[in-house]
Amino acid sequence: EVLLDVRDLAVHYPLRGRRGTVRAVDGVDLAVPAGRTVGLVGESGCGKSTLGRAILRLAPVTRGEVRVDGTDLATLKGEALRRRRRDLQMVFQDPLASLNPRQSVETILTEPLRAHGLPAGGDRVAELLDQVGLPRAAGRRYPHEFSGGQRQRIGIARALALRPRLVIADEPVSALDVSIQAQVLNLLADLQAELGLTYLVIAHDLAVVRHVSDEVAVMYLGGIVERATADELYDRP
Ligand code: ADP
Ligand code: ADP
Repeated sequence: EVLLDVRDLAVHYPLRGRRGTVRAVDGVDLAVPAGRTVGLVGESGCGKSTLGRAILRLAPVTRGEVRVDGTDLATLKGEALRRRRRDLQMVFQDPLASLNPRQSVETILTEPLRAHGLPAGGDRVAELLDQVGLPRAAGRRYPHEFSGGQRQRIGIARALALRPRLVIADEPVSALDVSIQAQVLNLLADLQAELGLTYLVIAHDLAVVRHVSDEVAVMYLGGIVERATADELYDRP
């Protein structure tokens, strides 16, 4: 069963002050089965982030479809679109850049709930903190008081707040010390087992996606050029 089905997706940006376009994403087909992890690898600038953001409608879609459970997101409006958006959440590379330094962790975790009119009580905050392995007292503290790995745990908790089905993690560990990376990847894997999540994990480093992915899609110049298991790619001479 396919949860995310991307068909012929394209994101073209105008070249500033000149004719022509940057084909950041150009005709991508990508299916992610429910409950699985697909890694998205490729060198810097090949379009991975743009693809991830376009799936969540955070980048402008030039052409193509993003289907979730068979429904094309472009056909949804209003409340139906808002509901569907809850199913799709993102974990960003740099937690400090994506967390508001003036908000307490509790506020960071409850903001998405309040924005969607959902109960945002202390019980839910405690549950989210438990899920990502942070102490409950963390709720009253601020992002700068935490280490990089802990901050990424806050970023993951925020992504989980709306009980998504698909999480797109864009370079989730590349800003972290190598010694912390495995802990965060193990947390993502544990959460998948516990919550039945489906992941698209974006990384320039094949070793990172190998750690968590069932399958890998290789991106090059805006397109997907290969789909294989991580071990098949890793063992290649
Ligand atoms: P990756 O994540 O693989 O490093 P990106 O998706 O960040 O690649 O970028 C793909 C290409 O699209 C790059 O050439 C980048 O400069 C360009 N690009 C990304 N975002 C924009 C934007 N907002 N406007 C114009 N060009 C962009
Ligand atoms: P990464 O390679 O880690 O994805 P970048 O440094 O390429 O990040 O991009 C950071 C931000 O700048 C993104 O929001 C991206 O959309 C934007 N961006 C990247 N390239 C361009 C570009 N050529 N013109 C305008 N915005 C860009």
